[in-house]
Amino acid sequence: MLPSLQMLEPSTAVQYVKGIGPKLAEILAAKGIHTVDDLLHYLPFRYEDRLNPRGIAELRAGEMATVIAEVRTSGLFRTRRMPIFQMTAGQGRTRLKCIWFNASYLQGKFQPGQMVALYGRVEDNRGELQLVQPQFEIIGDGEGEAEKKVADSLEIGRIVPIYESAGQGRLTSRWFRRIIHAALENLTPELPEAIPAAVRKRLSLLPPREALRRVHWPEAGESFQDLLASRTPAHIRMIFEELFFIELGLEVKRREQKVQTGIAFRLNDQVREAIKRILPFHPTGAQKRALKEIASDMEKPFPMRRLLQGDVGSGKTLVAFEAAIIAIENGYQVALMAPTEILAQQHYFSARRILEPSGYRIVLLTGSLEDDRKRETRRHIAHGNAQLVIGTHALIEQKVEFAKLGLVIVDEQHRFGVMQRSKLMRKSDKNDGGAAGVPARPAERSSAVERQGEPDVLVMTATPIPRTLALTLYGDLDISVLDEMPPGRTPIVTRRVGDERSDEVWQFVRKQVAAGHQAYVVYPVIEENEENELKAAMKMYSELSKNTFPDLRVAVLHGKMDPETKEMTMKLFQKGEISILVATTVIEVGVDVPNAAVMVIEHAERFGLAQLHQLRGRIGRGAAKSYCVLMTGGKVSEEGERRLDAMVRTNNGFEIAELDLELRGPGEFFGTRQAGLPSFQVASLIRDRDLLEVAKKEAGAVLSGPNSEISRTEIDRALWQMRTRWQKTYGLVEVG
Ligand code: ADP
Ligand code: MG
Repeated sequence: MLPSLQMLEPSTAVQYVKGIGPKLAEILAAKGIHTVDDLLHYLPFRYEDRLNPRGIAELRAGEMATVIAEVRTSGLFRTRRMPIFQMTAGQGRTRLKCIWFNASYLQGKFQPGQMVALYGRVEDNRGELQLVQPQFEIIGDGEGEAEKKVADSLEIGRIVPIYESAGQGRLTSRWFRRIIHAALENLTPELPEAIPAAVRKRLSLLPPREALRRVHWPEAGESFQDLLASRTPAHIRMIFEELFFIELGLEVKRREQKVQTGIAFRLNDQVREAIKRILPFHPTGAQKRALKEIASDMEKPFPMRRLLQGDVGSGKTLVAFEAAIIAIENGYQVALMAPTEILAQQHYFSARRILEPSGYRIVLLTGSLEDDRKRETRRHIAHGNAQLVIGTHALIEQKVEFAKLGLVIVDEQHRFGVMQRSKLMRKSDKNDGGAAGVPARPAERSSAVERQGEPDVLVMTATPIPRTLALTLYGDLDISVLDEMPPGRTPIVTRRVGDERSDEVWQFVRKQVAAGHQAYVVYPVIEENEENELKAAMKMYSELSKNTFPDLRVAVLHGKMDPETKEMTMKLFQKGEISILVATTVIEVGVDVPNAAVMVIEHAERFGLAQLHQLRGRIGRGAAKSYCVLMTGGKVSEEGERRLDAMVRTNNGFEIAELDLELRGPGEFFGTRQAGLPSFQVASLIRDRDLLEVAKKEAGAVLSGPNSEISRTEIDRALWQMRTRWQKTYGLVEVG
């Protein structure tokens, strides 16, 4: 080895890896590969067993197989429906036909005499076996040369890693194989180990270099099944490492919160009495449990950071009001924030109904209030006259000063997005009372009076989040779950109907209205700014109100209406003065009208699963049997079918959320607007749930562990590593 040859450090920019350079580095950057470390974390998505490639004669129909053979003939055939590319490969006298549909691009690709590695499904075509659409790689140009290469080739005679190509196919799997191989060869011998020794020992983790080598170049004896499942020791080490540092970060954040000074609310008999006096129902077991957890947080002298998770209709509002009572009875103010005006208004109405009889002063602060009113309301808040402040996130963005804020409740959290949550939390974490933000306090107060503790924060979400996601997204929060529905609910009957049967559906709606119930008709306007979509919804509304139900009271509700009209419409529907509400998805969140027992969802195939479930949650809130009709128009995709099936089959939000996560993948789970979901280099939230649990446990153990087990230096090294990784993965989110 030449002494001048530079060793690669994990932090070296990829462009300095031999064979890359600035041009290709750009392509890699688009894939998130910036450093040697990133490159080494670009894992194969599958492996091919070219150690024991199959003889053509021993192939069986139906199996996936790797075959190494010589190109004999190839050519393009035009059938009436599409061009088919055909190639025949041989081993001695045996031959195997390979076909690719619609593949004129393959013309001229193969030359007779070339050796190719083929991987694909073996199919029986009228007694003759063939490979259909196999993946292939040209290994060498003639048998002599190919044989020579076998010994030291990266392509055959071993288990071969297959990488996703990049740059529209410019950087092929083969290219990655070479580059990653070279990078591993030249990698510095001093690869830092950041996972503490005790953890490594407990889980028998491979050293980092060995894991890297074996994940890219598996040894001959490696279980193929484990490889494909990403469960070899090398995979486990790499996936665990990534999850461990994320969980460590979240755990550190949690612990830091626990040392800040908060408010220790008193929970004496007077407060308990106030709660009992006010509440209209007997709480469910789950509500009692959640309140107990919340109350116990509130009594403690550090700030609460708790997520209250419960399916639609599980009664989160009641629990939130109970928490509010504790704060108010202790002389503090409460802010309740909702994602939409409609929802804020609704909270305002129910808060007044439930809490005002006790003399609490409640105000509503939304973006649409007139400036004078806004100013006046803000003054009330600043002087401490308002005890419960309900509003939209205009509350976060505008300058609202509280006299004595004790509790912040954020409803329907997922709508705010992760980034916004962290913004909000940062604001509540700051003691500066400065520029903008909920818990900003008037400067003269915070300096003159004794330092007030940080307000408690209760976040509520109706999206049942699968536990894995909750652990990563909300890992810095404690979690309470409402897993029980209030009594007296009859399950919702869900049916799927093609829109050619809409007449029957409208007759059914008519019958329900005649029986005294109300109905929603929901039309998919996903993007309220889309003129055309809104037009279609309005057309539907005029059709229903003029032709189908001319004798009934039908109204419309959509996001582009002015706030007063929206509010009025909602009020009339709540009072039962409107029978049929034609609405867009604005009603998705939180709207509560127990007498509404029917929901017809038009073009149900266009909605996401979580959204359908949220919509359906608007009914089934009263004692009457409720019906959800999913109407479909036109062709439904296979995924659409699975969504509709799930809706008909189950009412369980957690089950639906799991399926949704599976169908859409975590990146899409919260929709594009809720960007900010952590993305992983090597881990997968769906595949690696088990390892995530282990990582969480180990992160906790490291931080609580006795010094004899884990040294301070080790913890520091792990924290340092965590911070670097965290910054990379989470970008803006601050840790500690
Ligand atoms: P969500 O969890 O979706 O916010 P809500 O808080 O809106 O649910 O509650 C749904 C409905 O259930 C409301 O009509 C509410 O008044 C009612 N409710 C809540 N708790 C109880 C209870 N313990 N017993 C009976 N009804 C309840
Ligand atoms: Mg709610």
